[in-house]
Amino acid sequence: MKASLRKGGLRDVDSSLEGYTREQEDRAMNVILLGPPGAGKGTQGHRLSERYSIPEVSTGDILRAAVRQGTPLGQEAKSYMDRGALVPDGVIIGIVRERLAQDDTEGGFILDGFPRTVAQAEALTRMSEEQKRPIEHVLSIEVPQQELLQRLAGRRQTEGRRDDTDEAIRHRLEVYAHETAPLIDFYRRQGLLRCIAGVGTVDEIFQRIMVVL
Ligand code: ADP
Repeated sequence: MKASLRKGGLRDVDSSLEGYTREQEDRAMNVILLGPPGAGKGTQGHRLSERYSIPEVSTGDILRAAVRQGTPLGQEAKSYMDRGALVPDGVIIGIVRERLAQDDTEGGFILDGFPRTVAQAEALTRMSEEQKRPIEHVLSIEVPQQELLQRLAGRRQTEGRRDDTDEAIRHRLEVYAHETAPLIDFYRRQGLLRCIAGVGTVDEIFQRIMVVL
């Protein structure tokens, strides 16, 4: 009796899980990765992109590609990036609007490095309302300051990014605290914020993300 009850119970759980999965697959997964420089947004963004087969839209990557190619955008962005300052909102919002208009984002997208200011977040809200593509989750990846500094110093040796100098790193962290950290409250008020402990192995952090999506 006990066993058959348990069996029935499990069947129920199984079928409700199937329903849940289907529902998840029908919906576009629109996610924002929020967190300071060095939090691991890019690393987790790649994993998420593979897991859900949706593009990762990294404004940092788009800008670095433009700088490498020497396009007018790259020429404008370079001096801001080298010193760890933000590229003006109007420029970045235009880039994201264009990128999200591409077909491959229809099934969802992962934003890494955008929005970074309240003005950018407001513009994204307007864009997603116009296009009826609501943001579902904002993953705030949290890492203690000391560990961020160590990671960024380590990355300077392996990746050789021009903005990983001591001076630019310090400035990027300050800019994060002043301009971007207020977005944590902005999205908490909208009920979209999911806090993720960003310490431990890449796999451990990814598992924590899987639990909240
Ligand atoms: P990190 O998160 O390590 O600082 P990113 O690759 O996200 O690095 O960004 C690198 C640089 O590109 C930033 O310091 C800034 O100059 C520029 N940038 C990227 N995204 C934005 C954005 N949303 N708004 C303004 N500037 C941006």
